[in-house]
Amino acid sequence: MSFASLGLSPAILEAVAEQGYSTPSPIQAAAIPAVLEGKDIMAAAQTGTGKTAGFTLPILEMLSKGPRVQSNQVRALVLTPTRELAAQVADNVDKYSKNTHLTSCVIFGGVKANPQMMRMRKGADVLVATPGRLLDLFNQGAIKFSQLEVLVLDEADRMLDMGFIHDIKKILKVLPKQRQNLLFSATFSNDIRALAKGLVNNPVEISVAPPNVTTKLVKQWIYPVDKKQKPAALAKLIEEGNWKQALVFSRTKHGANKLTKFLDARGITAAAIHGNKSQGARTRALADFKSGEVRILVATDIAARGIDIDQLPQVVNFDLPNVPEDYVHRIGRTGRAGAEGHAVSLVCADETKELFAIERVIGELLEREILAGFEPDNRLPESKLNTRPIRAKKPKKPRPQGEHHDGQHAANSTKQHKPKANGNGAARNTNRRPAQNASGKSSGSSSENPWGNSNGQRHKPSRRPN
Ligand code: AMP
Repeated sequence: MSFASLGLSPAILEAVAEQGYSTPSPIQAAAIPAVLEGKDIMAAAQTGTGKTAGFTLPILEMLSKGPRVQSNQVRALVLTPTRELAAQVADNVDKYSKNTHLTSCVIFGGVKANPQMMRMRKGADVLVATPGRLLDLFNQGAIKFSQLEVLVLDEADRMLDMGFIHDIKKILKVLPKQRQNLLFSATFSNDIRALAKGLVNNPVEISVAPPNVTTKLVKQWIYPVDKKQKPAALAKLIEEGNWKQALVFSRTKHGANKLTKFLDARGITAAAIHGNKSQGARTRALADFKSGEVRILVATDIAARGIDIDQLPQVVNFDLPNVPEDYVHRIGRTGRAGAEGHAVSLVCADETKELFAIERVIGELLEREILAGFEPDNRLPESKLNTRPIRAKKPKKPRPQGEHHDGQHAANSTKQHKPKANGNGAARNTNRRPAQNASGKSSGSSSENPWGNSNGQRHKPSRRPN
């Protein structure tokens, strides 16, 4: 299938070709014709699927045929949860509209409002905005919606997570009733469905990317390590793997700052990006990371959400997320556009609950590997270990002290390989989890398998990708 067959005109096709896209992605193939027909859309798609072009291209196509935009007016409004995503979407709009007469504008908080108000005097065919600043400018009369034709809610799930529901409701109240609505969300929770009910009419439902399919190009594994050893373990991975660029997720803003300092002190250039940083600092950190000036970007989930960095080779979960679905969003930053990516997680004993929840959500058991020199001391507490007898053919190594020991061994004992170079050049010991046995059930030794699941056995994931 080609972009030309989707009903786009030469001015837009040319801009698409300049981006080097030859074939529409599945979401584009489904969304572009539906939007051009004037239908409402409810799409389950996350960043990395090409969703931005999926709504931007047909919107530009439609707008290019309509009347010119008037002062302070907006013809298509794209709402995004974060400033970074707003800037990124606006950047896409500029690229795809460069051969048309259409204008665009981006507004978000954290920077001066005045230049944005001045800019809106000319009106904008496409306005990309975060909800809070949009309402501010609307209330001051700098933005008018009587010419509005299309509304896009991008990453609606994250907008709700970030508490934007009231702002969104206020915005919906001031928009013309007659309009086309496009709703994009990575997940469709009950809250999103409730929001969709009052928003989209008879929508075309598109679901192109169940998370466990998009992550197929991402090689994932975990390193069980002690909490205190995490910064040094990460530095080792970066240094020995000679990583040029990695996005590292921290659960907290404070943790992100601390880790950035640690890496900088080790001579590894790093920058942090999170909600306490000024907009200027966030933009600079992202630009430096993209240009290669800093090797490591340490981010919290909200700050990193939706950031598109081409061909990001490495994602690291320095802390596992509390919400298992966030794991999927995080690793979606790598393995983009056909390139293989790596997602490694440093998991300490305190995080086993989060680990098992993630494995249930992704329907996969993550491979455990031991990072040479960082073998964890912290074993799972005795109370959490399995007490069922487990059989093994032969023990591979003596049991370290303090482990649960029932006098028998695992049926498929865990392999302990010699250190080897992985795909990124880092030497690592692989301590892989045993393969599933013929019955589909699995067994493992709690003692040789940090972190096996809470009863020392590997659980069965609820879903398993084909
Ligand atoms: P998005 O999901 O909109 O954030 O897009 C993810 C990445 O895919 C961006 O870097 C786009 O430039 C790229 N992209 C979008 N559409 C295509 C396509 N049809 N072919 C190749 N790359 C694309």
